[in-house]
Amino acid sequence: MQDASPLHEEVSSAEYARVVPEVCNMIQEWMRAGEHAEALVTPYSNASDSRAEWHLELNEEGVDDKELLRSMQTILQHSVNPWTDRFLAKLYTAPTVTSMCGDMLLSAMNASVHVFSASPALSLVEEECVRKLCDLYGFGTRADGVSMPGGAASNTLAVQTALSCAFHGVYRSEGIAGQIRVLMQEYNRVGTGARPTILTGVDSHFSIDRAALASGLGRNAVVHVESDAHGRMRVDALEQLLKEMTSDPAHPLGMPFFVNATSGTTVLGAFDNLRAIAKLCKEYRCWLHVDASWGGPAIFSEKLRKELFDGAELANSLTMNPHKLLNVTHQCSFLLVKDGRCLSEHAIRAGYLFHETQSESEHRVTDRATMTLGCGRRGEALKLFLTWRKYGTKQLGNHLDHGVKVAQQLLADLRTNPHMEVGPVADPLFLQICFRPRRMPGNLTGSDATHAVCARLQRDRRYAVDFAPSSNGDYLRLVVHPRTPSSIYFALIKQITAYATD
Ligand SMILES: *Cc1c(COP(=O)(O)O)cnc(C)c1O
Repeated sequence: MQDASPLHEEVSSAEYARVVPEVCNMIQEWMRAGEHAEALVTPYSNASDSRAEWHLELNEEGVDDKELLRSMQTILQHSVNPWTDRFLAKLYTAPTVTSMCGDMLLSAMNASVHVFSASPALSLVEEECVRKLCDLYGFGTRADGVSMPGGAASNTLAVQTALSCAFHGVYRSEGIAGQIRVLMQEYNRVGTGARPTILTGVDSHFSIDRAALASGLGRNAVVHVESDAHGRMRVDALEQLLKEMTSDPAHPLGMPFFVNATSGTTVLGAFDNLRAIAKLCKEYRCWLHVDASWGGPAIFSEKLRKELFDGAELANSLTMNPHKLLNVTHQCSFLLVKDGRCLSEHAIRAGYLFHETQSESEHRVTDRATMTLGCGRRGEALKLFLTWRKYGTKQLGNHLDHGVKVAQQLLADLRTNPHMEVGPVADPLFLQICFRPRRMPGNLTGSDATHAVCARLQRDRRYAVDFAPSSNGDYLRLVVHPRTPSSIYFALIKQITAYATD
């Protein structure tokens, strides 16, 4: 038997000094190769076909440092490379180096931001991010928020928070059964009419449906409201549903308690009319949540704030993801709640962990995990904090303004391109453009033309672009990342035009 754990055979700072510079060099080399003008986005055209060759296996015996570095190298070599700037398939892209530094610091501290005593500085960093974000959205001084592992998680916590706060908190003690009882006894609802229901746009993210599942409401508790031609939830359709559902005690769709508006939809980048929706929520006593996972950072730009977030201050909660448009490394999302006390409704007394009792007058919570349904938490807010420190609110706003300007130029370019057909677009335009060639070789049109382009792009491995369905078939969904040089987009359109005229 050894007299020390094999995990601590060497002084860690010495091991760090020996291994980490090599890892850093490897990473830098990989980034540099990725930045090369001819670099491919993926090292394979079909990942499933090549996985057997990667030798990613775990064995009875360990390996030495050299072998370990080889494994790291293998993983990097077989990964999608965001540093080409041509990975445009998703709503995230290459991270800022500053947020990568944040990840390193977080790993070195290895602190859990569940209780203040375990992570005082990181707790304050999170508080400051939350405070400043709440200021930007106009949430006022009673607001609070938490960092979460993603937009889906934030949206789920929003639904759970609304449930905990609505109907005098019966959900907290008795769950959905209690909630339905209250709706029957106090609101005179009957049958399925007593089911608490979420209303959201048809173009909203699937995580809203997921949140209904996770809260015990079930998927049938989500009602999808029609969109207009530009992908916004139709306010008149929402009003009609609210009116019908609330006035009929036995309405088969249930009783609305939560409306989700989206600021930046996943496909078109549409922004729902928050002011009009907030007015309806007030009238029909619904919790208004804004899923700004994608579009949220537009708040940093004074111009976009006025155009896209008018009425945001009237919402009860809001999700935003720095790991998408602010190029912060995964994962980093925030849920902000206007009445911060609602978040603390989740608090469960655990004397062995949460020692600080809250005073009645002080609504601020210092042990941040009490606001979540989790326990241990990584201090992901640090990555936003460092990015925000470095660029300031102003430059982050300029980042967004720049992206929108490029998107406008691209749309104008595509509209004059005789080979291209522009699909539905948001109005005002944000950062997504749906388009496809009018015709691809073999006389392919519509969705077939879109899929033919995708197949060519995948084979050539120079660009990664996704497609998305619309009422008019599938289109290529071009995501304009503000960090990505506009020349990349114009070269891509040239490439697709060449495919179409081959
Ligand atoms: C991306 C996205 C989400 C989910 O965010 P994750 O961080 O991937 O969990 C939710 N809503 C919208 C509108 C999104 O674009």
